[in-house]
Amino acid sequence: MSEKSTSRHPSGLFLLFATEMWERFSYYGMRAILVLYLTKALFFDKAMASNIYGGYVGLVYMTPLIGGFIADRYWGNRRSIFTGGLLMALGQFILFFSALLRPTTAAESMSPLASLMLFLGLGLMIVGNGFFKPNISSMVGTLYSPTDRRRDAAYTIFYMGINLGSIMGNLVTSLVSDTGNPEDFKWAFLACGFAMLLGTFTLKWGQDKYLFSWDGTPVGATPANSPGVKKVYLWLPLLLITSLGIMYVDAFITNIIFPFLILSAVIIAYLVFADKSLSRIDREKVAVIFIVSFFVIFFWATFEQAPASLTFFADEQTDRDLWGYTVPASLFQNLNGFFIVTCAPLMAFVWGFLGKRNAEPPSVYKMAIGLLLVTLGYVVIEFGVKNLIPGVKVSMFYLVALYFLHSIGELCLSPIGLSLVNKLSPPKYVSLMMAVWFLAPAIANKAAGMISALYPEEGKITSFLGIPIHNLYEFFLINVALSGVASLVLFLLAGRLGKVMHGVK
Ligand code: GLN
Repeated sequence: MSEKSTSRHPSGLFLLFATEMWERFSYYGMRAILVLYLTKALFFDKAMASNIYGGYVGLVYMTPLIGGFIADRYWGNRRSIFTGGLLMALGQFILFFSALLRPTTAAESMSPLASLMLFLGLGLMIVGNGFFKPNISSMVGTLYSPTDRRRDAAYTIFYMGINLGSIMGNLVTSLVSDTGNPEDFKWAFLACGFAMLLGTFTLKWGQDKYLFSWDGTPVGATPANSPGVKKVYLWLPLLLITSLGIMYVDAFITNIIFPFLILSAVIIAYLVFADKSLSRIDREKVAVIFIVSFFVIFFWATFEQAPASLTFFADEQTDRDLWGYTVPASLFQNLNGFFIVTCAPLMAFVWGFLGKRNAEPPSVYKMAIGLLLVTLGYVVIEFGVKNLIPGVKVSMFYLVALYFLHSIGELCLSPIGLSLVNKLSPPKYVSLMMAVWFLAPAIANKAAGMISALYPEEGKITSFLGIPIHNLYEFFLINVALSGVASLVLFLLAGRLGKVMHGVK
């Protein structure tokens, strides 16, 4: 395979694109209706539903640490993805059956079997995702040679698959299940289960035909020096039980996921840096992955308010009338997927165009630009809410502009970050490092929920770091400040980081 930046992308990229598209259909489709299902069909209160949701998303992005480790050391990517895909499909089907047993009135309590199945279904998806997500993401880059400039563009194309899946998943599950009849939620789980199977078997079907690296070696096969493939299966029940335990404690007793995530990051850093076989250069590159992932927390913590505070804003403060039709508040967040899919080819072209002229910004600068665009999105909203009189709604232009800026920002940061992590990782840790990258959204999603809880409501004054929040202007200022300061510091650090990346751009 040629290394020229002008040549076509390998067919393997499109296989990974299709696989990830169906997996994200399943993930985002289910995620979109989960809270509605918990509150409307299972009669949980909003706080409990939010806790279960937050715990679920936090853990979904935490288990890649284990899935990445097992893939690098024991299984390889293909086996990990296949196992993870089957576990996630099983999880969706168990949720479907659990929904058949749901209580029919709020007065009735949920049967112990139905509760067990609910948590088991979520737990299987948490564990399955750990095996799927870091591995599919690391395989994309492995198709290309270390010096191949097409890697950023490849991740941007892959990212379109992610968002195409998310748009379809959201639409399908909203249409089949959010009908007003709580009986219908089960169809979302069924649809997502089949989408997951489709993704898993798409990869199985095509991997021997299309998944080859630039030098012709199969991508994602079991590592030649694997200490044992089969015994890892014994770990799966343990992992499942641990996830269920953490989810249960987090939802019903006390919030433990946040400290748990931070501790995991510290332990992984310790383990990797203690590996004597890594050279000084390797260590410096790994350190860059950790530093960059830290800044990325600020991106996702502000960006991921889309399903939370920004949806409250759409619901309560935005004039949603479009030529006589009232646009549903929940639909605004789908603008993100829409802008990603429509703008990704443009961004891939821009990076390719600049690359050919040696004018492409290095990855860390692109990521700082991404953070800046999130800040600008919130600055736009600030213009809308400044001096807003209570009861008056703002034009939907503000949210559309915000989602546009945030999506371009995401394209500058997220696929580029995946590509950067792939380039910086020592080969033996490539999937584990991908998992470190996914720890950022795990921590950030939890933080996004906490920030969103400060959303001002009538008669309630919240506070951030001791500063009282009286209105929307002050609330959105938190997001401007967090992403703006992170962007600024990353711009200032980018040059220094470049020096310890040893030629990686
Ligand atoms: N939207 C992307 C995905 O689903 C990004 C996820 C993340 O890194 N937070 O893969």
